[in-house]
Amino acid sequence: MTPRRASQSRGDGVALYTHAACLDHDPGPGHPETPARLSAVLEALDESAFPALRRIDAPRATRAQLARVHVRRLIDSIIDHGPLHYWRMLDADTLMSPGSAEAALRAAGAVCAAIDGAITGDSPRAFCAVRPPGHHATADTAMGFCLFNNVAVGAAHALAAHGLERVAIVDFDVHHGNGTQDIFWSEPRVMYASTHQWPLYPETGAREDTGVGNIVNAPLPADSGSAQFRTVCEQVVLPALDAFAPQLVLVSAGFDAHRLDPLANLNLETGDYAWITEQLVELARRHAGGRIVSSLEGGYSLDALRESVAAHVAALGE
Ligand SMILES: [Zn+2]
Repeated sequence: MTPRRASQSRGDGVALYTHAACLDHDPGPGHPETPARLSAVLEALDESAFPALRRIDAPRATRAQLARVHVRRLIDSIIDHGPLHYWRMLDADTLMSPGSAEAALRAAGAVCAAIDGAITGDSPRAFCAVRPPGHHATADTAMGFCLFNNVAVGAAHALAAHGLERVAIVDFDVHHGNGTQDIFWSEPRVMYASTHQWPLYPETGAREDTGVGNIVNAPLPADSGSAQFRTVCEQVVLPALDAFAPQLVLVSAGFDAHRLDPLANLNLETGDYAWITEQLVELARRHAGGRIVSSLEGGYSLDALRESVAAHVAALGE
């Protein structure tokens, strides 16, 4: 067991990227991806709990950053054709409100800025507390609560703007990141490794789907818990990441595999998020000069989200 640091230094060496605009994306009454999620996350990471976090306002992603992974039609549609009042429905569960475009730009911008900070600045480790989430958005389609694919935009930025040759994306959200897999399906410079409940929305993520050897899917049957999760991480996901030797580790950090989550049926405990984060921090130390940038994806039990994000960010700072 890694000893915990004194609480006075919790978050030391970790940058927190967020923006108030991310609270203004409102998918409508009764929607699980509510602004209250981000409020809960920010509460869990507040000054009293994490005094040493470096708090940074996320900039907007530029169109050029978005265009590395998204077609122009989708970018224009999100930025220029959001609703002026009420909602615009993109699919059965993906809606835009008047504040959504700005939130989506800040969410993708946060990941790019965090990567800049990790590579050229003095914060090798960062957490992006942003919404809407991103990992279901494909090159041309917003779906599954996601508008732009924040982490994919970040990975493409790391390749294009910083000349990296190996970027790993680790996705422990309970849902498979179909968008991220799709975008990097034939891109050997990006490894996408996912644990997820299967079958479950979006019904992708079969073990046999391996791209050009850069996709690692570790599906888990419903009702799997800590033991099964840690086993696939130790036997499948972490060895593949070690062999890939990434120069930067990105994390699609969804917390909806928690046993309290209402949208899925895995049974992870809060301590599992601390554990996997410790493994990824070690991986980043071995290969990537300690560079690790994590971004919020799902997680729909506010209690589980508060606890799990705190465990994740505390482990990022160790
Ligand atoms: Zn999810």
